Amino acid sequence: MNGVPDPRVPGGDIAAAWQRRRESLPLISPLRKKSLQLLVVGTGLAGSSAAATLAEQGYRVKVLSFHDSPRRAHSVAAQGGINAARSVAVDGDSVSRLFADTLRGGDFRAREAGCHRLAEISSSIIDTCVAQGVPFAREYGGTLATRSFGGSLVSRTFYARGQTGQQLLYGAYQALMRQVELGGIELLTRRDLLDLIIVDGVARGVVCRNLLSGELEAHTADAVLLASGGYSNVYFLSTNALKSNASAIWQAHRKGALFANPCFTQIHPTCIPSGDAYQSKLTLMSESLRNDGRVWLPLALGDHRQPSEIPAEERDYFLERQYPAYGNMVPRDVASRRARELCNAGQGVGPGNRSVYLDLQDAIERQGKDVIAARYGNLLQMYERISGDDPFTTPMRIYPAPHYTMGGLWVDYHLMSSVPGLFVLGEANYSEHGANRLGASALMQGLADGYFIAPATVTAWLAGNPTPSIPSDHPACLEALAAVNKRIERLLKVKGSQPVDGFHRQLGHLMIDCCGISRNAQGLRDGLAELETLQQRFEADVCVSAERVGPNPELEKALRVDDFFALAKLMLLDALAREESCGAHFREEHQTPDGEARRDDQHFAHIAAWEHGNDGKPIRHVEELAFTALQPSTRSYR
Ligand SMILES: Cc1cc2nc3c(=O)[nH]c(=O)nc-3n(C[C@H](O)[C@H](O)[C@H](O)COP(=O)(O)OP(=O)(O)OC[C@H]3O[C@@H](n4cnc5c(N)ncnc54)[C@H](O)[C@@H]3O)c2cc1C
Repeated sequence: MNGVPDPRVPGGDIAAAWQRRRESLPLISPLRKKSLQLLVVGTGLAGSSAAATLAEQGYRVKVLSFHDSPRRAHSVAAQGGINAARSVAVDGDSVSRLFADTLRGGDFRAREAGCHRLAEISSSIIDTCVAQGVPFAREYGGTLATRSFGGSLVSRTFYARGQTGQQLLYGAYQALMRQVELGGIELLTRRDLLDLIIVDGVARGVVCRNLLSGELEAHTADAVLLASGGYSNVYFLSTNALKSNASAIWQAHRKGALFANPCFTQIHPTCIPSGDAYQSKLTLMSESLRNDGRVWLPLALGDHRQPSEIPAEERDYFLERQYPAYGNMVPRDVASRRARELCNAGQGVGPGNRSVYLDLQDAIERQGKDVIAARYGNLLQMYERISGDDPFTTPMRIYPAPHYTMGGLWVDYHLMSSVPGLFVLGEANYSEHGANRLGASALMQGLADGYFIAPATVTAWLAGNPTPSIPSDHPACLEALAAVNKRIERLLKVKGSQPVDGFHRQLGHLMIDCCGISRNAQGLRDGLAELETLQQRFEADVCVSAERVGPNPELEKALRVDDFFALAKLMLLDALAREESCGAHFREEHQTPDGEARRDDQHFAHIAAWEHGNDGKPIRHVEELAFTALQPSTRSYR
C-alpha cells in the first residue's frame, strides 16, 4: 500500500462543502438499484439507519448481526442524549458553534470538513427521528426540551429521559423492519463476522459463523458496510455491552483496511465503581447527571465521615474550583484525569479510595425531587439497584471507566475505508471525534452516517464502479472460508486449562494500567512485553470446548479475545508513537505545569493510519490535517 489514500476532503468554503459534494455525486436509477446487493454488518443506530435508508432507496440489503434481535445492539444502552444545532434554547447555539465545539473538543485531531458536515446534518437527524415518533422530552409548551453536555456552554442535547439510545434505536428498528416486511431487507441474526472477502482488491463479502448451527457461511455483495461498534471491551471492564467486540474491524484491518488512531479511547468520568475482582461489566451514570449533580470530595485526606456529615466548607468541589468557566461540565477526558489524580493522592472515598461523589442534593433542594426524578428517573433507579444507596438522599459514588473508542477504521470523507467498496459507519470508524468525543455526539455521528452520508456516498461508489456479481463459491470466498476454518481448528486444538475470560480480564488490567487515562513511554514498553507473554500463554493454554456443531459460546469469546490481543498491541504501539498529549490521549511526559495536555501541532497534527504488516510489523502512515475555518488553539475550560 502506498500510504493513505486520498481522503477526498472537499476544498473551498467549508460551510457549503457537503452540499456541493453531495450535488456532484453520481446517482443510480431506481430500476438498477434493485439489481444491486448491499451487505450491512450491525444493527445499532449506524447499521439500522443505513440499512433502512438504502433499502428504502431500492437496493437489496442483507443485514447481519450477532444479536438475536436488531434491538439488542449496544446502541440501546445510550442514555443521556443526542446533540443537534437547532438553537431551540435561545442561548445562541448555531451550526458553527457545534462545529467549533466538536473540533476543539477533539483537540484538533479530526478533519474540519467532517466536523462541519456533522454539525450541519444534526438538525435533520432530529427531524427524521421526530417524524418516526421518537418520544423526545418536551417543554410544557410542546417544543423539544434540551440539556447540556460536557465541553459546551449551550443546551443542545435532545433526550428521551435516560433512554435516548433505546428510543432512537426503536425508531431505526421500525424503519428496518418495515423493509424486512416489504422484502427490501434480508435480516440474518446470530451471525458473527469472522473475515472479509476481497476480489480484485475490492470488498465483496464476508465470512460469518452461524452462532446457532456452528456452520460457516460466505455472503457476497456489491458493497459492504461495517457498523459493528466500538472496541472498549479490549479493557475487559467497560461500560459497553458484554459482547461488544473488535472482530469485524480487526479482520477488515488484516485484509488491508487502515486502522486510524487506535490509542484514542475515552474513559468516562461517571461510572459506578467496580465492586470486586469478578465483576464482568461496569455501568455508566450518564454525563447528563452533571447538569444537576455536583462532583466533590472531602477536603481532608482520610475523612471517612458520611457525606451528609461533611459541611460545605469542608468539601472540595474540585471541577468547579479548577474550571470556573465550565465547572462540572468540562469534557470527559479532563473530568476523568482530575478525579483519578485526587483518588491516587488519597483524597478519594469508598472502598480503596477509588471514587468521588456526584451529588444531586442542591438540585433537589432547588428544583424539587419530582423534577429530578422526571429528568433522570431510570438512571437513579439503576444506581440504587446496583449500589444499594438512594441517590435522592446519599450522593452517588462514581469513578472513570472505559467507555468509547474514537479510534477505528480509517475512512475518507465518503466513509469508505482504504479497501475500495468497504464503508465503515458509527463507532467502528475513525471520523469526527478526534482525540476526544464530546458527550451526546456519538448518536449524532452514527445517525448522520447511516441516514444521510452513506446512502449518498455508497450510491456514488456503485455508480462509478460497476462490478459483476460473484457467487458464494467464488475462489475468494472458498479461500476466506478455509482460512476461518483453520483459525477455529487452531483454537479448538489447544485444549488448555484456563478459561477465555481469565485471559481477557488480565488483558484488560494490562491495558488500563499501561494505556488508560494516562500513558507514559516506559509503561507502554512494559505493556508490549507483558502483552506478548500473555498472548503466548493464551495461545498455549486457553480452554475452549471442542463443539464444532451447534452453539459454542467459549469459541465465540476465544475468537474475540484473540482479536483483542492483536488490537491491544496496535493500541500500545500507537500510543507510544504519538509523542504528545491530545484529548483523551494523555502522555505524562507531555503536560503543562498545571497538568493539562500539551499538543505538538508541529509533529502530530495528523491522523495516524496503521497498515497491517504481513510480517506482523504494523506500518504507520499519516494523513496530515489542515485547518482553515478554525485555527488550532490550546483547549482551555478554565
Ligand atoms: C452505556 C452507554 C451510554 C451511552 N450514552 C450515549 C449518549 O447518551 N449519547 C451518545 O451520543 N452516545 C452515547 N453512547 C455511545 C453510543 O451509544 C455508541 O457510540 C453508539 O450507540 C454506537 O452505535 P453503533 O451503531 O456504531 O454500534 P452498536 O450499537 O454497538 O452496534 C453494533 C452492531 O454490530 C453488530 N456486530 C458487532 N460485531 C459483529 C460481528 N463480528 N459480527 C456480526 N455483527 C457484529 C452487533 O450485533 C450490533 O448489531 C453511550 C455508550 C454507552 C456504552
